[in-house]
Amino acid sequence: MIEIRDLHKSFGPLAVLKGVDLTVEHGQVMVIIGPSGSGKTTLLRCFNLLETPDKGSLTLNTIKLDFTPGAKIPQRTVLSLRQQTGMVFQSYNLFPHMTAIGNVMEGQITVQKRSKEEARSKALALLDKVGLADKADAYPHQLSGGQQQRVAIARAMAATPEVLLFDEPTSALDPELVGEVLKVIKQLAREGMTMVIVTHEMKFAADVADRIILMDNGVILEQGTPQQVLEQTKNPRALQFLNRLS
Ligand code: ATP
Repeated sequence: MIEIRDLHKSFGPLAVLKGVDLTVEHGQVMVIIGPSGSGKTTLLRCFNLLETPDKGSLTLNTIKLDFTPGAKIPQRTVLSLRQQTGMVFQSYNLFPHMTAIGNVMEGQITVQKRSKEEARSKALALLDKVGLADKADAYPHQLSGGQQQRVAIARAMAATPEVLLFDEPTSALDPELVGEVLKVIKQLAREGMTMVIVTHEMKFAADVADRIILMDNGVILEQGTPQQVLEQTKNPRALQFLNRLS
């Protein structure tokens, strides 16, 4: 389970997160939506300390962090948190000089200290899971954007994380490639993977989310089931955002 309490984050004078509280239960899919610049990506990046919050707390199972301005977080804590939070970025971020299987093996060997054989067999199973067993030896430049993103998902899962974090996983893709990536994410949801997903794809959000968080201007405006947030909200700002999309 992940618990975030009273999370604050500023960049210089710009307050981007202004007191965020949320809980992600084990096996839950939480989708974060909201207008551009509302703080969605920053919030997601706080989950694995790619951004260090200024104030508040973050708990992931047995790891508990209290943030105070300027305090340094021990590197061991950062590493153990990162091992439990697999991240999938908008722009895939694969190593260009490594094959698909090499990308999925790399962290297993360098971080998890698995043997090459074990890493290879796990990587092959994961590539198979995302429908890319036949592309194991292809380099990123030989793969479509959708295929690269599926390799990135396999790589994020290789560490057997507690939660997968997705930052707009389809927004860099040509429209015809979006479906294959969403299908993989939906499959993981059915298998009970805990996930937090920032997306602009409202139909996908409605389909896959157990809970939706609607952010605006650094705070959570609405949270609840897709039906509660997308169909039943009476919050004027939320309605303004949702109506703009329809
Ligand atoms: P989008 O939907 O456009 O991706 P978002 O809701 O994910 O937006 P964030 O990316 O979290 O929003 O950005 C929130 C605000 O913080 C923006 O004004 C952005 O310019 C600012 N910001 C984000 N990262 C940094 C940074 N490293 N340094 C300074 N400002 C930043």
